[in-house]
Amino acid sequence: MIDFSYTKEQVELQKKARAFAQEYMLPYASYYDKTGEFPMPIIKKAWETGLMNLSIPKEYGGLGRGLVDACIIVEEFAAGCAGMTTSIFANQLGPEPIMIAGTHEQKEKYLRPLTESPKLVSFACSEPGMGSDVAGIKTTVSKEGDEYVLNGSKFWITNAPYADYYTVFASLDSSKRHKALCAFIVDADTPGVRTGRPVEKMGHRASATASIIFRDAKIPVENILGKEGEGFKIAMKTFSLTRPAIAAFATGLARSAMEYAREYSMKREAFDSKLRDFEVIQFKLAEMYMKVETSRLLYLKAAWAADTTPDATIPASIAKAFATDAAMECASESLQIHGGYGYIDQYPVEKLFRDAKLYQIYEGTSEVQRLILGRYVLDGYKPARESPPRWVGQKAPDF
Ligand SMILES: Cc1cc2nc3c(=O)[nH]c(=O)nc-3n(C[C@H](O)[C@H](O)[C@H](O)COP(=O)(O)OP(=O)(O)OC[C@H]3O[C@@H](n4cnc5c(N)ncnc54)[C@H](O)[C@@H]3O)c2cc1C
Repeated sequence: MIDFSYTKEQVELQKKARAFAQEYMLPYASYYDKTGEFPMPIIKKAWETGLMNLSIPKEYGGLGRGLVDACIIVEEFAAGCAGMTTSIFANQLGPEPIMIAGTHEQKEKYLRPLTESPKLVSFACSEPGMGSDVAGIKTTVSKEGDEYVLNGSKFWITNAPYADYYTVFASLDSSKRHKALCAFIVDADTPGVRTGRPVEKMGHRASATASIIFRDAKIPVENILGKEGEGFKIAMKTFSLTRPAIAAFATGLARSAMEYAREYSMKREAFDSKLRDFEVIQFKLAEMYMKVETSRLLYLKAAWAADTTPDATIPASIAKAFATDAAMECASESLQIHGGYGYIDQYPVEKLFRDAKLYQIYEGTSEVQRLILGRYVLDGYKPARESPPRWVGQKAPDF
């Protein structure tokens, strides 16, 4: 049975998130974008309002909500401010490896505190020399007695300077690529661990992006997630559970871009008409609306697959690839409808344009999603037809 409606609870959640975005995010989005300050007051408010850390199981003090619910919130938040949303939802990405592979003790020690105070977590996979090629991780780990020793650098890590702990991916032997990867929980105050200064970015300026450097950082053996060699599997599973949320981010941004363009087209006049009266403008709005609606359907399907099936990789990649391209296109068309005013900071669309670009890059680029999907079509997909039809030399039916 297919049902496209939200439950009463989900409608309430959406209302709450929309109200939060309008009251606490939108009015401050320009300030944080201009200054690049970290929006800790907004993050704390989101935590107090119960709109953060949704997926932590009830057993560990959380709300135990599924990804569909988290994505409904994400769309509303991202429609308010993409950068703040990236910082808030890094707390979905960071602890995901623990939810996937953590022991009861690890979950008790690292998930419960997130429900008791507004702590932050970072997911540390990418490095200065690699992002897409996860199996090419160069940060090393070696086992010495009761400890693992980490050496190397992570780069692009969201919230790193403010996080209490990180989930970190490192290699026992980089020549063995994915087979040698391990995942760990690393406390930020571990001796030998330090973070760099946040980098200046074109968009998502309300989220802090920084390096983490490990110099003989000693991690207790009990902080490994899963077994040695399972790091790659854990990272890929994490992405399949978080990419639907990136598609929801993109949907929220695309929706805002469309709404700003709609409002502007009703006010702005050219050639003695409102912009809204030109068919070309109506077609642009129609295209944007189709993209927003399609993106939402795709992220909901992917999130539903993540909540209810063993492997959401394919719907997650479809949703991420489609919705992030759609967001970029909607931001670009919205800016175009604003004309010269779209290009300056008097209207929010120039920020949306800068923010939209990141969605095509992080958590697997648009190209990486297409690699996953291309390989699936060739090697995983089951054709509807059992064998190639007889085509050349067909005869008239004799029935
Ligand atoms: C603001 C920001 C926040 C981030 N936050 C985090 C975080 O919290 N944690 C984290 O671990 N990482 C994070 N990242 C890193 C992000 O995930 C990587 O930047 C991304 O995966 C791309 O990696 P790369 O930058 O090394 O590009 P590369 O992998 O060097 O790719 C460069 C280009 O080549 C293309 N390409 C690469 N391989 C192929 C291929 N086989 N076929 C076709 N094209 C290919 C890519 O699609 C891309 O267009 C963040 C990045 C940014 C910018």
